[in-house]
Amino acid sequence: MPRPLGISPIRHKVTRRFYEPLLLLHALSPIRGERIKSEIISDDPESNHIQLRRSFTNAIAYICAYRKGPDHVAAAALEKTPQGVVVWLCANADVEEGVVTFLKGVLACVYRVVEKDSMEDLHQEASLATQRLASMIVDFQAPRLNAYRAEIIKSCILPCHELMTGYVRGNGNALEVNNLQQWLRKYFGDDTGGCTGPSLFDLSKACYDIRHTQYLKTVSMFAGQGRTRHETFERLYKLLGKLGKPLKSSKTLTEAATKLAQDFAQGFTVKTVRSSVPQQLPFRGKKEATIERTVHRMFSDSSKKAEFMERLRSLVSPEEKEIDSFLQRERATKTRVHAELLLIDHFERNSCNFLGQGEKYIGCSKPACYLCHMYITHHPSHYAIPASHNKVYVAWRPPDVYIREPGAFRLLQVQERILLRMIDLVRKDLFSEIKSHNMRLPYHTDSTTGITTTLESMRLGETDTPPVAYPGDLGILSSIPSLYNITKHPI
Ligand SMILES: [Zn+2]
Repeated sequence: MPRPLGISPIRHKVTRRFYEPLLLLHALSPIRGERIKSEIISDDPESNHIQLRRSFTNAIAYICAYRKGPDHVAAAALEKTPQGVVVWLCANADVEEGVVTFLKGVLACVYRVVEKDSMEDLHQEASLATQRLASMIVDFQAPRLNAYRAEIIKSCILPCHELMTGYVRGNGNALEVNNLQQWLRKYFGDDTGGCTGPSLFDLSKACYDIRHTQYLKTVSMFAGQGRTRHETFERLYKLLGKLGKPLKSSKTLTEAATKLAQDFAQGFTVKTVRSSVPQQLPFRGKKEATIERTVHRMFSDSSKKAEFMERLRSLVSPEEKEIDSFLQRERATKTRVHAELLLIDHFERNSCNFLGQGEKYIGCSKPACYLCHMYITHHPSHYAIPASHNKVYVAWRPPDVYIREPGAFRLLQVQERILLRMIDLVRKDLFSEIKSHNMRLPYHTDSTTGITTTLESMRLGETDTPPVAYPGDLGILSSIPSLYNITKHPI
């Protein structure tokens, strides 16, 4: 699809009000609570199929994100068409040709399982496919897996060995710790970081095979709260899980092939959605971006404004310089549309049918960010709510709507409703952050492979009703023309 026609004025009006409280929130505390798990699905047989489709879709997205880094975050969705399943793939940056070729190979392998009629053939082909897929995925994901291996060798092995050696000296009965040390030496080298060099496949398989063993339990015990170097052990635990994920993905893909034969009976086609073009944040000039003026625009009541400023000062530096310089720096950030929202946008514009009846699921290579989670939660088309790592990325924007494109009015209308709801929630979150005097939450990585699981789901309110205009806004909202005016008089 060409990218023509200029940018919708909705971005320059509503979103400006969105980014100001968001920047303040990000400056105060960029991690908005613990990770949020995805929705729990009941275990009746039909739900089992829903879970299988979800796991299959997630695995597709994950294996395609072959390299670390934001450009490679990938999302996938399954469309049902009369010609078979279309696997839609998207990434934060454009999907590379090599990824499409790889995915076609993977799906051909999956389809060979689907085609088998007799139980015996099916089991035999599934077993072969699992091995073949594991090898293909490990090869393709080598850049990602090598980065994990290098991180373990560089940052975990030496401090973990030191601590475990000390533990063994101080405790007579330390067989399990000894065993773990030997295992780590075998796959990651000795205390000096020297590597004995198992192949990437052997390493990945070994990491997968230890997932329910005493080795990993011992790592998790050293990662326990309050223990010396527990953060290093926790990181080690997560990285071992990530290294084993290609094997897990190959099993997930094959299991779906054996149990969703009807879904996949007509085969797969791979299609991609293009990434978005980076855009500047929609802000005023430098003078307008100070903390004083930003807060001024958020409050009409001077006493409330003073209260807010006082709390802000108590949380940050007395001179406000920290936040001011942060705001100035962040103004230069370029936004993009995250992969999962690009897919939602594609399905909305083209009225695509998802494979699972009534189940609108977008798989992603990592949990959604704070804003994507919020956007999906409040989308009127009721997409399945994804897991979230709950981090605020200011360089985020909603899907683009172009003036004069067909259906622009409807798309703008939906987006404005979601954004108004999000503005309301971001502001509420900001105010409660200021009131709470919370310390900043410690950094956690975006992915979910870890010991610490999410606290209870923190699902946001799900009303579809757009909030009323904020009486406190200093004429910002009232200066926004209605949608009718926007479309009649594009800026
Ligand atoms: Zn996101």
